[in-house]
Amino acid sequence: MQARTTGITPQANDTRALEAAAATRMLVAERILDYSGHVSIRIPGKDAFVIQIGSNSRAEVEPASMLVVDYDGNVLEGDGQPPSEIPIHIEILKARPDVQAILHSHMELAIAFTMMEGVTLKPMRARASRWKSGIPIDGDPSHIKTTEQGRALARTLGPHHAVLMRAHGLTLVAESAQALFIDAVHFKENATAQMQALQAGTKPLPLTDAEIEQIEKMEMRDWHIKKLWNYYVRKGLTEGVLPDEWGAPLIPSREMLTRDHTH
Ligand SMILES: [Zn+2]
Repeated sequence: MQARTTGITPQANDTRALEAAAATRMLVAERILDYSGHVSIRIPGKDAFVIQIGSNSRAEVEPASMLVVDYDGNVLEGDGQPPSEIPIHIEILKARPDVQAILHSHMELAIAFTMMEGVTLKPMRARASRWKSGIPIDGDPSHIKTTEQGRALARTLGPHHAVLMRAHGLTLVAESAQALFIDAVHFKENATAQMQALQAGTKPLPLTDAEIEQIEKMEMRDWHIKKLWNYYVRKGLTEGVLPDEWGAPLIPSREMLTRDHTH
């Protein structure tokens, strides 16, 4: 198959492909992705996004093999088929102009919270204030392969940052690939905390509105994302999850890691 051109600047596209590939590999290392699930990153102003080839191993994704796909599911650049659940990405990107990056995962802990009567996943840990507006559950337990299913999922997500999918998984949305990865790490930490409280036989005590308000007074989201991205990229390089040559373009500069004390 001959790759077609979209007029997207190669450099901007490459940065997205690199970040999507790195985030995917690191999510595998953190046991948030495995043989399935995927990350997409919007290409601003193009009604298109970067996503991996559906059949490629999540542990070995390369920027060069990433696809550029449009909102009709057509492959504009690259050589391969996108994941079968691509309507998740298309319909959420269409419904939520504020969203730049999407993760769909079959995280076991998230799935567990769609299968317990009378239990709702709540913000337990400080970083989970991100999901203070709620974490809805979509009731469709099948794989999301049609436009109608994708639209229904986008409706369930609504204005929130996460949606659980009954007996299937979860979808997270964020303002960047880096933010998406860090949110995924914190989502898992939070689900683990609530599960531990349940397994201890106690009634979990989620954060109160007043506690969340206090937490958010101290929040420095942009800097926090850079700090953790720096940690996980370096960990990925050290452990061989990421190739050495990805380090220079992915590691934040010292300037980016300096806190702005006015915020
Ligand atoms: Zn799925």
